[in-house]
Amino acid sequence: MSRSAVPSWQPVDDLDDRIGGPSTLSMPEDWALSTAWERAQTATDQGGPITDAERLVALSDGEDRHRVTFALKGNTLLAECDCAGYQYHDGWCAHVASLWWRWSIGEIVVSHLDTGREYEQPPAWLELDGRTDYDALTAAELDAYLACERADVGVRAFARSTRRSPGTVGNLLRRARGKLEGER
Ligand SMILES: [Zn+2]
Repeated sequence: MSRSAVPSWQPVDDLDDRIGGPSTLSMPEDWALSTAWERAQTATDQGGPITDAERLVALSDGEDRHRVTFALKGNTLLAECDCAGYQYHDGWCAHVASLWWRWSIGEIVVSHLDTGREYEQPPAWLELDGRTDYDALTAAELDAYLACERADVGVRAFARSTRRSPGTVGNLLRRARGKLEGER
């Protein structure tokens, strides 16, 4: 499949090798009352990025360090931790919670694996349990579609922020819509 070249960004190959791919973030109903969420806000994280898709999380209230997948794909967020709590609590642990908290307050930047764009906060188009397949779109088409179609960013504003002409963005959107409608 051809995608537009995005300089200075390399796709992470090993993610797609896992069976079914990594899990998406899903929060339990009582997530705001969970111990994981409390830890996320009280402990600091001394870890950092490993790749575009993964971070090391080292919370200040414990000795353990965990490798956490935390990256945007399509219209959703991949989030997976190697700790036991993640397994016991259906995908919600202090390490995932810490990254979500830090991203929400603008302390970390999260990469979009398909478009290469970096997000300083959770984007308006994000669907936590989203499973829409956007594989047919090029990186540029997906980037424009997420912003203009799903997050209601104006075509002109998006064109300005990406240094494209409004006509080019309009074409990207038309092609994206056409491909997505053709698949239904
Ligand atoms: Zn964890």
